[in-house]
Amino acid sequence: MENHADVMIAGGGPVGLYLAGRLLQNGISCLLLEEKKEISHHSKSLGIHPVSLELFFQAGIADAFIEQGVKIKKGIAFWNRNRIGEISFSRCPGPFSFVLSLPQWQTETIIENWVQSLNPASIIRGTKITNLNQTADSVSVTYTQGNHEYTVQTGLLIGCDGKNSIVRKHAGIPFMGNPYPDTYIMGDYTESTAFGPDAAIYLHQDGLIESFPLPGNFRRWVAKTDSLIENPQPEHLQNIIEQRIGHSLSSAQNAMISSFGVQHYLADRYYAGRVVLAGDSAHVISPIGGQGMNLGWLDAEACAQIISDAIAQKPDPSALLEKYSSKQKKMAAHAAKRTELNMWLGRKENSGPLVKAAVHLITKKPLSHLLARIFTMRGLGRWWV
Ligand SMILES: Cc1cc2nc3c(=O)[nH]c(=O)nc-3n(C[C@H](O)[C@H](O)[C@H](O)COP(=O)(O)OP(=O)(O)OC[C@H]3O[C@@H](n4cnc5c(N)ncnc54)[C@H](O)[C@@H]3O)c2cc1C
Repeated sequence: MENHADVMIAGGGPVGLYLAGRLLQNGISCLLLEEKKEISHHSKSLGIHPVSLELFFQAGIADAFIEQGVKIKKGIAFWNRNRIGEISFSRCPGPFSFVLSLPQWQTETIIENWVQSLNPASIIRGTKITNLNQTADSVSVTYTQGNHEYTVQTGLLIGCDGKNSIVRKHAGIPFMGNPYPDTYIMGDYTESTAFGPDAAIYLHQDGLIESFPLPGNFRRWVAKTDSLIENPQPEHLQNIIEQRIGHSLSSAQNAMISSFGVQHYLADRYYAGRVVLAGDSAHVISPIGGQGMNLGWLDAEACAQIISDAIAQKPDPSALLEKYSSKQKKMAAHAAKRTELNMWLGRKENSGPLVKAAVHLITKKPLSHLLARIFTMRGLGRWWV
């Protein structure tokens, strides 16, 4: 079977879905192919930064996020068990002077419902892209659905198919980077603290602990581990939390437990011919700092803006795509550096008195205001820090 779509999107994670919505709002027909039959409830991101809420506001969907999420207005910093400062987001530029906490599956559900309301035929789930070939003016995309194979011609293919992107591989775009040595254990528990909507960051001599509120009176705990814990159990995390900060989770109910390592990869360029990358297919950064998905939405917004121009310039959209590529790549490299600093601070070997003095200083006003802006992704690709 041979079809045609002006723009095709590979992958319906948070980035591909948002891109589809923005294209449809701009009057560009698109077809999104997603391998999974339904949204995965596997726990990943929770942090939605103000830069993304501003995009959602423009798209007309911010209210749905704010109704469901928890507004984190400050993060409290501890050195071992002692409170040493805080980062308040209240002085960050409005109207969204907070970080919103919402599980990734809820985020994807909101965006998918919005896309469905714009054009229900634009998403086909249960379809796996297996091959692509491009000429100077089109890309032919082969995908499977059940036992059937189809080929579709498109003017532009946007790979939003995550870190193992088949689109990136077939386009021959190198993906350079490495795993970091850091490993973590993460779990969601019923609320057992008095932090309310605040986040808590413990820079501890035995390794970082982070604690974030979740909707529904839950709280996520993340702890640095010496090595990857295979087959993690709730007790592993509970013991770490109790030993390091003296907080007991024994009466809290566990809803999720996982362990993970972290990596950094960046695409050599974000396009090749008529194939373009956005989101984790173009960059993977450490989730410590919670920026990967937000960075992907910034890609998607920039991509949606250049696509209508690129379609109009059929013979050669490469100048536009080059501009997109170099700007977004610079932002991703900057975000990766910032998360590296977060991870560095969370390592037990960096818990000496000099680091403690520096953390004490930056979590006090006026430096904490700058820190709040850095943490909420302001100045990416523009500021020196
Ligand atoms: C533990 C953890 C915590 C995190 N916390 C945060 C956070 O707080 N804030 C934040 O901003 N980021 C966070 N992240 C990162 C965030 O989860 C990712 O950056 C985000 O999911 C990337 O979105 P994406 O749409 O680019 O890719 P993905 O979410 O990977 O989606 C890609 C989609 O493409 C589909 N696909 C793949 N191959 C094909 C194919 N061949 N054909 C069709 N479909 C295909 C997949 O099924 C998938 O649905 C976290 C990550 C982890 C692991």
